[in-house]
This record gives sequence, structure tokens and C-alpha cells, in this order.
Amino acid sequence: MSKFIFITGGVVSSLGKGVVSASLGLILRSRGLKVSFLKLDPYLNRDAGTMNPYQHGEVFVTEDGAETDLDLGHYERFANIILGRVNNVTTGQIYGEVLDRERRGDFNGETVQVIPHVVDAIKNAIVRAARNNPDVMLVELGGTIGDIEGMPFIEAIRQFILEKNRNDVILLHLVLLPGLPVSHEIKTKPAQHSAQKLRECGLHMNMLICRSEEPMREPLRKKLALYSNLRPEHVIDVPDLRVIYDVPDCLHRQNLDAMICRHLELPETEADLSPWRQFSEAVSNPQRTVKIAAVGKYAGMADSYKSLGEAILHAAARRQARCEVNWIEAEALEGVPAAEILAGYAGLVIPGGFGYRGASGKVNAIRFARETGLPFLGLCYGLQCAVVEFARNVCGAPGATSAEWSDGDPDPSQTWITLLDNQGKATPRGGTLRLGAQPCRLDRQSRAFKAYGEELISERHRHRYEVDPAKVNLLRQHGLLISGQNPQSGLVEMIELPGEQFFVATQAHPEFKSRPLYPHPLFLAFMDAILSQADKARNS
Ligand code: GLN
Repeated sequence: MSKFIFITGGVVSSLGKGVVSASLGLILRSRGLKVSFLKLDPYLNRDAGTMNPYQHGEVFVTEDGAETDLDLGHYERFANIILGRVNNVTTGQIYGEVLDRERRGDFNGETVQVIPHVVDAIKNAIVRAARNNPDVMLVELGGTIGDIEGMPFIEAIRQFILEKNRNDVILLHLVLLPGLPVSHEIKTKPAQHSAQKLRECGLHMNMLICRSEEPMREPLRKKLALYSNLRPEHVIDVPDLRVIYDVPDCLHRQNLDAMICRHLELPETEADLSPWRQFSEAVSNPQRTVKIAAVGKYAGMADSYKSLGEAILHAAARRQARCEVNWIEAEALEGVPAAEILAGYAGLVIPGGFGYRGASGKVNAIRFARETGLPFLGLCYGLQCAVVEFARNVCGAPGATSAEWSDGDPDPSQTWITLLDNQGKATPRGGTLRLGAQPCRLDRQSRAFKAYGEELISERHRHRYEVDPAKVNLLRQHGLLISGQNPQSGLVEMIELPGEQFFVATQAHPEFKSRPLYPHPLFLAFMDAILSQADKARNS
């Protein structure tokens, strides 16, 4: 039977609860335990699919095609596991389920209420997420204690804990200890209030994890322990560290995993964090630094492209390098020579995106890369822009466009990127994309094949438009290598320029599958191209 670790937060949001949960998962895995995660998101959206990445960060796509909270990305990367639809539950899903059951008459005329019906649905979702029987199920509640929308989840956690044996569940509470800059004082009052709030809701934390700028002094630990009804060793300190990858070690050094395992009566094996430490060291102390440009639409907030930034960092660390990514707002590249903005970079990446805004800036940047030999990696929308650029400037179709960029009925002869299903029909906004893992067969002569080392690969998708199959031959005739295709439908999955230049684009999002200890092969190949481009620039 699985053991459950609940993680709640207090004082402020965006404290790094996801990273702490993911770190704990990693440590427990390194002790030989099977772990899984559940993220409970109190917002009303059914999933993160329709949420603006500017507000909420990246939409993380799972193998089974769920559009989830970016914390699932932390979990997958840190613990090196694969999660799915059941591992992220929102209020919208819970209410949707309860309301559907009400319409079906499942409640036999009862009054349908938050308690018991909504709360029961949440408890069921927790059990469902643990259906594969992990040794440890980590359940993180989004938001902070006291949020109105979080209350049904808090009540569900309370009941869940009540129904379990003491040694089957543990509750960790994460808080911020704000510092006063003038007096260099760390304040505990908000944390105390947060502990109080938790008690009001009938929850008792077993451990308190404190985020602060500075390491915690002993008197402070004792004070917090006293007010939180804990022993001092159960107050854990996570000060600002070099990088987030230092968090697992920080928790482990304070015996968090050992204390949790003791409480949950799990085998007291040793954690082996050495490969992880090496990775963190490589990130913190690189031997060289290179700089690349990423041209996107949510450039103001790196969290909108979280997995991409991570995939680049993993590949760079493997080469003992740091790759600085300068996010450039796509519109800045409109109507100006790309050289003015892109000179001096060792690579260009065009990430996924939606809508017309910024499209011509991206096309402009890609042209520059193609013409000057700058290593280029296009992801999803990046592939679509690369096809349009190639059509316009190489295939002699200056009017080439994407159906996504035209308001009315696009002229099919000019539309190189098209909607294959729902042709011409308005589509609803949520849940209508090609999502999740899709197979791709690689051309054996391609750079992509060389990178992956196998012919049949699978990557996660999240898009609505496709390269128009009717244009594929034209692209080929003008020298573009269609390096990957879906083995069943023949849809274009990857393209590249043959020859020396690294100019590769994929319709998928390989960034979702990169791991700190297992950098993604395509990103590694891209990184090698970037490093040699930087060498060339240095020697010339
Ligand atoms: N907007 C494009 C599509 O829907 C690309 C999506 C993406 O980059 N994820 O096909």
C-alpha cells in the first residue's frame, strides 16, 4: 500500500513548493523507492491548456496528452519518471465530474454538496493517482493555506489523513520567512500565522520547511518549532542556493528523507545523490559560456518556456558549459535586418507559439540563420515558421503563409501550414490539439537519425496545424530534407538542411523529455553545433 506525503504552502505562492516536492521525490527514488506525484490545482480551468503562459508559466504536456501544470515538469525531470493525466487534478475537473454524475442521476436525489460530494471526488482522485501502487505518493496542493478555492482540497486532505494510519501519511508545510533588508532580521510571524491557519482547518503539520534568503540560526529554528508544535529537527531550512538543483542535497543534509522514512516506516536505505551532485556542480561551475538567442512571444517570462530552458541547460551541463539564453521578443525582429539583433549569438532557437503576432519576426530570424549558417533549432511553431521561410525564400513562393496567420479563408495554394481536420470550421479553444506522444520515423541519412541513434522515435506534441502534405514534394525538390515523418499518416515531423549546417526543426516538443541526468539527444546535437560555432567565432 502506498504512503502519502502531502505538501501545502503558506504565506505566499511561488515559493518553490514544486521544486521541493520534486527534490523529495528524487531523494526517495535514490533510496530505491518507487515514487509518484499528484498536483492539486485549485483553479477552475479544467486543465492548464487554455491558460496564458504569461500568467501561469508553461503548459507541460504529458505522454498521454494532458496539458498540465508546469510543476509536473519539475517532478518528471527531478525524479526521472513519466506522469500522466491522473497526476494533475484541478477544481474544474472535480466539479465537472461531480456535475456530470449529478446529471446522470448517480446521487439518487441527494442534495449535491461540497461536503461530502466534492470532497469525496477529491479523495477519489488522490487514490486514482496512486493506482500504480507507488511506495510513496507525493501530493502537492497549489496555492496557499487560507485561499477560498483551496478549502475543499484542504478538507479532503484532512479527511484522507484521518482515514489513514498515522504511519501512512505525513504533512509537510512550506512557508516563506521574509527578511527585513534594513535590520537584516528574519521574521517568523507570517509562518506562525500560517501554522495557526493550518490548525484551524484541522491539519497538523509534521514538518515545516522554511524558505529564506539566509541560512537559519538555531534560536530561530527553536522558536518556529515551538509555535508550530514541532521538534526543532523537524524544522527544515531552505535558504537561497546557487541553483535549484542544490535543493535535494540541502534537504538531505538536514535528514528530511530519513525522518520521513522513519515516520512512514519505509526501509531505511541510503540515498545516493552523487550523480545529481555532479550535475549541479557542472551547472554551477561551467568551464565556458556560450550565448544563444531564443525568439518567442512570451519572452518576458522565462517560465513560459520552462522545459526548453531546462533542456538547453541539461545539454550544456553535459558539455561542462553554460548556455545563456537571451529571450528576444519576436516583434523586435520585424522590419529590421536580423543581423542587427542576432549578430554575436552562437545559435538560434524558435520555440512553440500560437497566433500571428510575432510570426514575421521569427521568419526573419530563421532566414538569417539559414543564410549565415547559424545553428538553428525549431520547435513546433519553429518548424512551421521554418517551412514558410523556406517556401518564401527558396521555393519561390513569396506569398507562402500559415493558415493560423490569416483571418478569413486562406488561399490553399499559398497555405503551406494548414489545418487538416476541421477544415474551415471554427474550432473550440480547449482540448482540440494534436497532443501527447506521437511516433516519428527518421530518415537514415539525417542528422536527426545520427543524434537519436534510432529510426523510430516518439515525442510529445501540442499543436493544431500541420505542414500541408501537398507541398512536401516542392520542399524536397528545393533541397529541404524531410528528416522525420509520422509512420502512419506520413505527416511531416522533422525537417533539416542537408550538409554541414545545423538547421533542424521538429513538429514536436522534445524539450519535455529532457532530464538533468539524461540530456535530450537533439539538444545535445544542437549544443555541439553551438559550441563549435562559438569556437569558430573565437578563432576568426
Ligand atoms: N500554433 C501552432 C499550431 O497550433 C504551433 C503550436 C506550438 O508551437 N505548440 O500548430
